[in-house]
Amino acid sequence: MSTEVRTAIVTGAAQGIGRGIAQRLAQDGLAVTLNDIPGNREALERTAAEIGREGGTCRTSTGDVSVPADVDRMAAEHIAAYGGIDVMVANAGIAVTAHFVDTTAEELDRALAINVRGVFNCYKAASRQMIEQGRGGRLIAAGSVSAHKGGEWQCAYVASKFAVRGFNQTVALELAQYGITANIYSPGIIKTPMWDELDEIVTTQEGKPRGSQWDKMLPFIALGRTGVPEDVARVVSFLASEDSAYVTGQSIVVDGGVYMV
Ligand code: NAD
Repeated sequence: MSTEVRTAIVTGAAQGIGRGIAQRLAQDGLAVTLNDIPGNREALERTAAEIGREGGTCRTSTGDVSVPADVDRMAAEHIAAYGGIDVMVANAGIAVTAHFVDTTAEELDRALAINVRGVFNCYKAASRQMIEQGRGGRLIAAGSVSAHKGGEWQCAYVASKFAVRGFNQTVALELAQYGITANIYSPGIIKTPMWDELDEIVTTQEGKPRGSQWDKMLPFIALGRTGVPEDVARVVSFLASEDSAYVTGQSIVVDGGVYMV
């Protein structure tokens, strides 16, 4: 194992799962760039400050993952600050919560732009650098159980996450020759602002009490509870580590035992 400090970029790191991943990778000793959109800058800076207080090494970079120039700038600044890229965690994503008949073409395009083109841009910027460095690397992206199975209220989201799983498999095949692995983590129901928003939309439309969308899912979770970002971050910590060297092209489901692959 190398004695050099390894480095990671985590997108969508201001809150939720991305925040948990950035905190965990910093605890693991990686130097981390935390990215999020300019509109979420305050939360991003708060997360970075917390990591700094815990003794981690990190910096922030605002930008939209769906815009190639933003991602290329983020990667270039990360390399200038930390000397290279060992791990890319393309976590940023959005949910579109609407029945198929109500989903607009614009909403579908937006889900694909952020959830798919965002991963494409991040993998591309990181893999160019990783190939040049010649020491392998870890490409990691947010999938979902929705990358495996259709779900009501989520046609645009499901389409985007299936695409991420297929894209990741192809990247894994093409970049294996460089010692670069590509894997996705596929959460089930994780308590984050995204799930709060989904619960709010569904319960409002169905005239049910706030939070009941969560309760509805509980009987299906073998481990008897909904997830927290730390549950996902532990898996990403493994995927980012040198211990996952013989794992590539996979989707690791992190859902407490709902969907068993
Ligand atoms: P979240 O909405 O709480 O956080 C997502 C973060 O991404 C936010 O900080 C947001 O500002 C940022 N973001 C959005 N668009 C961006 C863009 N264009 N560029 C950069 N940053 C952007 O969501 P979360 O629940 O933490 O989800 C994180 C990832 O995990 C997403 O890809 C999501 O699809 C996936 N996921 C979440 C769950 C869950 O239950 N929460 C389940 C399955 C998959």
